[in-house]
Amino acid sequence: MSTSAQIGVTGLAVMGRNLARNFARNGYTVAVHNRTPARTRALVEEFGSEGEFIAAESAKDFVAALERPRRLVIMVKAGEPTDAVIQEFAPLLEPGDMIIDGGNAHFADTRRRERDLREQGIHFVGMGVSGGEEGALHGPSIMPGGPKESYDSLGPMLEKISAKAADGAPCVTHVGPDGAGHFVKMVHNGIEYADMQLIGEAYQLLRDVAGYEPAQIAEIFRTWNQGRLDSYLIEITAEVLSHVDAATGKPFVDVVVDQAEQKGTGRWTVQIALDLGVPVSGIAEAVFARSLSGHAALRDASRGLAGPKASPLSEAEAGAFADRVEQALYASKIVSYTQGFHEIDAARAEYDWDIDLGAVSAIWRGGCIIRAAFLDRIRAAYDARADLPSLLSDETFAQEIAAAQDDWREVIIAATRQGVPTPGFAAALAYYDALRAERLPAALTQGQRDFFGAHTYRRTDRDGSFHTLWGGDR
Ligand code: NAP
Repeated sequence: MSTSAQIGVTGLAVMGRNLARNFARNGYTVAVHNRTPARTRALVEEFGSEGEFIAAESAKDFVAALERPRRLVIMVKAGEPTDAVIQEFAPLLEPGDMIIDGGNAHFADTRRRERDLREQGIHFVGMGVSGGEEGALHGPSIMPGGPKESYDSLGPMLEKISAKAADGAPCVTHVGPDGAGHFVKMVHNGIEYADMQLIGEAYQLLRDVAGYEPAQIAEIFRTWNQGRLDSYLIEITAEVLSHVDAATGKPFVDVVVDQAEQKGTGRWTVQIALDLGVPVSGIAEAVFARSLSGHAALRDASRGLAGPKASPLSEAEAGAFADRVEQALYASKIVSYTQGFHEIDAARAEYDWDIDLGAVSAIWRGGCIIRAAFLDRIRAAYDARADLPSLLSDETFAQEIAAAQDDWREVIIAATRQGVPTPGFAAALAYYDALRAERLPAALTQGQRDFFGAHTYRRTDRDGSFHTLWGGDR
């Protein structure tokens, strides 16, 4: 057994434990540590045969077990616990050592921690990890930020434990400096929210407009999963929809409370987008849809409000409608990714991060929750043109949306007519129509602002700022 470990993991709840096992299974000696030592002992007792672990009960023993320069991965609850762990370990480290935070940190915290630790000569790597506990064990998508030189020694290890895309490429790259990795992970989660919301809307349309039962909808999703929507989320949606509750014999989806939870990364994506001035309306609608679902009293009080008369579709109409929903879902998905990549692009400019958007789409192709065949197409779009202003400027995506748009509009019309809420589909279409509009009512907004606040306006025919002396005694 080795006396020194190439990597250490502290924080051995589901994620840390599985990440440590993944390193060990790939031939690395892993020092393991947890605030409550029982977890450390349990890991070694249960999984010790999978590889070489060095169990450390104290912070000092943990640091002493690591070969130099030390690589120490933190997998604890994000926020204050991360700061507490950094404060505990940093004094025990030496210049050149590396702290890698694999938790879901806010990128602004990562930027602060990186700056503080840099003063001590410690490399701090904020590392986004996606794929849940299964991904952590079998290969996650990994989004490390931090100093570029840290990737020279850390990168090969991460490439070994990461997921591999269908072409064999590891789903990890050095995303960019300081908080870039956690930023990209945050947007990944925001896109995940939008994807899930759009799938949810497709489900509800197939149920409430087309009249299909959950098991039939599961089959429709399975068919879609054979085509351009091929993705992990579509695949698991079919599994969830075909699942029958053992206690009642009813479809699982009918016995679950219809109030969705959220942890915060979707909300952060929207908050930061507001700060950066980036319209991520699809992600915002997804976050709002979850919060609306949770307002039980408000929903109870609103159930008596008037809706349209139901007009069920015939069987033949339902089949054609399902095909249209696929078009609407695909078109809306292109818009969500367009918005998410716009946010990363804006952060790249704001924080001077050298993020390769094509590389980001490439590392999301495996291991993570939004993994999908579709991401190959995004990579191809950025490979063809690295300075693409928007995914919608890519000819292939533009053509696909052009082909889908009639059905997309029809689906939203049907949803409106039947009173089925589709905030994701509708926001995506409104974004698309706003981008392609010759003129927007923002001209009128400029006039209103000048009228009530002398905010001035710009003209189409001359440079400069203008103010009109509006009538009345304002
Ligand atoms: P978690 O429930 O978020 O955190 C539990 C771990 O944090 C335990 O090891 C706990 O130690 C430790 N901890 C909490 N407060 C501490 C403190 N003040 N000092 C030292 N240790 C402290 O665990 P998780 O679900 O495995 O997630 C770990 C990190 O990965 C989180 O940041 C999470 O957001 C992120 N993440 C999770 C997922 C997922 O699917 N779960 C996916 C990606 C990223 P004790 O055992 O002593 O209580």
